[in-house]
Amino acid sequence: MSTRKPLIAGNWKLNKSVPEAMELAGSLKQDLADCDRVDLLVCPPYVALHPVAELLRGTAIALGGQDLFWEDFGAFTGAISGPMLKAAGCSHVIVGHSERREIFGDSDEVVNRKLKAALAAGLTPILCVGETLEKREQKVTKEFLRKQLGADIKGLERELISRILVAYEPIWAIGTGMTATPRQAGETQRFIRDLFREHYDGGIAENLRILYGGSVKPDNARTLISEEDVDGFLIGGASLQADSFVRIARSSSL
Ligand code: PEP
Repeated sequence: MSTRKPLIAGNWKLNKSVPEAMELAGSLKQDLADCDRVDLLVCPPYVALHPVAELLRGTAIALGGQDLFWEDFGAFTGAISGPMLKAAGCSHVIVGHSERREIFGDSDEVVNRKLKAALAAGLTPILCVGETLEKREQKVTKEFLRKQLGADIKGLERELISRILVAYEPIWAIGTGMTATPRQAGETQRFIRDLFREHYDGGIAENLRILYGGSVKPDNARTLISEEDVDGFLIGGASLQADSFVRIARSSSL
């Protein structure tokens, strides 16, 4: 456990209609009203952002988008921009989630453009990185992360990089029930922090919050958060029920 305040973030993905999102957000608002030892964030689908923002106004639960496009406006059917997310009430946005990379073809170059667009819009990006099972088994996780991260943050000055968060999400652990062991998560996240030390400096590296994501559940949250370099979670499946998200948030309030 570090001195960095943990962030517990829920990625609702393609789940929850507007009424369902309102119901879940309403439960979180009530159940987490006294939970101030961790930062809290939910990332509903685009259509639910504005009503959920209204419902959560005045609470400590922040709102984030799940993705964005790099242009601010124009003829880009289906896209949503950083300024639009900001105007809808978002403070954060997820960038480079492995589902965006694998299903929608977001390359590192695209992720880099989106990261810059998010920062330009005044949003806090959560940059997701992580290796496949194949890379882990080939024992090339570190080489892979060095290359992926280097490409994703290319050209970002120190002042901008100090505003991002990173989520280490091993692809083999997302939605599979196969969680990284606390040791695997801790070691890999320490390596990611060292990469920031190399690219920037110790101050940037020490202040950077690095979340872990990949089948986080109420029963494994505590041991994972006890790792020095695990500064919170990005949670998919277990963020879809108020009860499990609340239990994870409470277990992380050490
Ligand atoms: C995610 O998609 O960011 C994620 C970590 O999902 P899950 O918690 O379901 O593995």
